[in-house]
Amino acid sequence: MSNQILKAGTVITMDPLLPRADAVAVTDGRITAVGSLADCQEESPDAEVVDTGAAALLPGFVEPHSHPVMSGVATQPPARSIAPWDAPTWADVERIFADAITTTDPSTPLLFAGFDALLHKRPSPRADELDRIFGERVVVISDNSGHGAYFNTALMKRNGWDVNPPADPVGAHYGRNPDGSLNGQGFETAAIMAIAAPVMAQLGGNPLLSAAQYYAWMARGGYTSTSDMTYDRTIKPAYEALAAAPSCPLRVSMWEMSTSEGFTEPESFAAGESMLVKRGVKLWTDGSPWIGNIAISFPYLSNETTKTAGIDPAVAGGAHSMNYTREQLDATLDKAAPAGWQMSFHANGDLAIELALDAYEAALQRHDLIGTDHRWRLEHLGAGTRAQFERAARLGVYVSMAPFQYYYWGDLLDGRLFDHEHGSRWQAFGDAVAAGAVVSLHNDGSVSPPTPVLNIQTAVSRRTRAGNVHGADQAISLDHALRAHTIDAARTLHRDKLVGSIEVGKLADFTELTADPYTVDPVQLAETARVGGTWLSGNRIDLDAFVGAVRGADAAPHAHLADQAQRSCC
Ligand SMILES: [Zn+2]
Repeated sequence: MSNQILKAGTVITMDPLLPRADAVAVTDGRITAVGSLADCQEESPDAEVVDTGAAALLPGFVEPHSHPVMSGVATQPPARSIAPWDAPTWADVERIFADAITTTDPSTPLLFAGFDALLHKRPSPRADELDRIFGERVVVISDNSGHGAYFNTALMKRNGWDVNPPADPVGAHYGRNPDGSLNGQGFETAAIMAIAAPVMAQLGGNPLLSAAQYYAWMARGGYTSTSDMTYDRTIKPAYEALAAAPSCPLRVSMWEMSTSEGFTEPESFAAGESMLVKRGVKLWTDGSPWIGNIAISFPYLSNETTKTAGIDPAVAGGAHSMNYTREQLDATLDKAAPAGWQMSFHANGDLAIELALDAYEAALQRHDLIGTDHRWRLEHLGAGTRAQFERAARLGVYVSMAPFQYYYWGDLLDGRLFDHEHGSRWQAFGDAVAAGAVVSLHNDGSVSPPTPVLNIQTAVSRRTRAGNVHGADQAISLDHALRAHTIDAARTLHRDKLVGSIEVGKLADFTELTADPYTVDPVQLAETARVGGTWLSGNRIDLDAFVGAVRGADAAPHAHLADQAQRSCC
């Protein structure tokens, strides 16, 4: 039996019955007492007292919507990140290109991840431009949205595509010159796979190690529990291997894609339910605001910004952006609901949210689930309206929101992509909370860096990366924002009996902060309240031990994941 009492400057429990404490007693990975040091010593007289050194000890942060394994494969080495948080300007991107060209063997291809036309302020690259930079060196650049990949003439030559350009695969397409030859762009899964998979295979990376590095990044951000919202059985061995490694930092809840075969079937994991569990089924109703395929009732603006991003206001954003018809959604819900799966719909535009709520309400009625604790979910909700949040709350539908959309793209949303009325209230945290919905916050895998404290700062301060404020009335209290990454995120994952607050009986998962978030300027929360470390089941996470063990593990059973790196988001 292992017995410890952990001390910190303050313990923020997120338990309304005892919001603050000085110490937590832990026995065999579970919390046995919370209170003063004397309270804990009375409960656990033989326990070793450990001063964590943290200014504040919180429940481990919960990321309710991610894609940890495939985000690692897509963004960690051998890929190099050019995402806007690593390379804010195109000049920064060019420096990363130059460094890669001069510091690697010229016979190997180069792979870059994270181009964003809106934030890099230039159209998506084409072959002629990449040829000027990379010459005969094969190069692939993936789009941060997960919906595109860009390549040069050297890649076309290697694949024979310069002589025989491929036809468009089902559900995907290549950009073409007027004569039908390829222009160096490919869109959607099948095209991206055809472009990137051979390059990833040649680079010979270790997908399991890439995934472990992504786990470590999430842990450094303060996360202890997360989810995979694009699970299918091909990733199962990777999750089992990571969960079995020493000091694994994350618990993961799975939502299986409704497009994968047998998506309603049960799943069990050797690591046990506290580490890995299948929870539900995931569908998409629309796409990404950054490439114009969300379903909204208002138009994109016509200007240089939308033109650069390749968004045509005449066709972008309408109801035709919906991925499924109502009948298709109903059919999937009718398969999943009787098996008890917790449903999750990706929905950014107001039309998409409305369709999802219509489908949910009808299905909840058909399956006699109205008024039950079903916790069906909506994801992202960029353009969600007050009435929609109220309807979600009424139906018991949980909303998981995306502060990074506002933080990184907020200055473009208000007045460049959309008019002020719609753009300024993007990610309407205030309306969601006021409506009484259960609100959680997320980073969505490779779409944004795993930074819960920055998400909380954004929801509280309503400031973009450049420090601007749009829709100030949509800010929420620090209490609500902390709940959205702890207890309410745990409720969203149906894990609140185990994690999400520091209470007797729960698993001893903690995040250490270097400052009490209630005592610092909310505008600088992420800079002043830094993550010092995390704990899982009463053990302080040792990321070197974790990554080192995965580095030494057999990579062969996971090689196939390199072909699927486009599944890293959304
Ligand atoms: Zn996602």
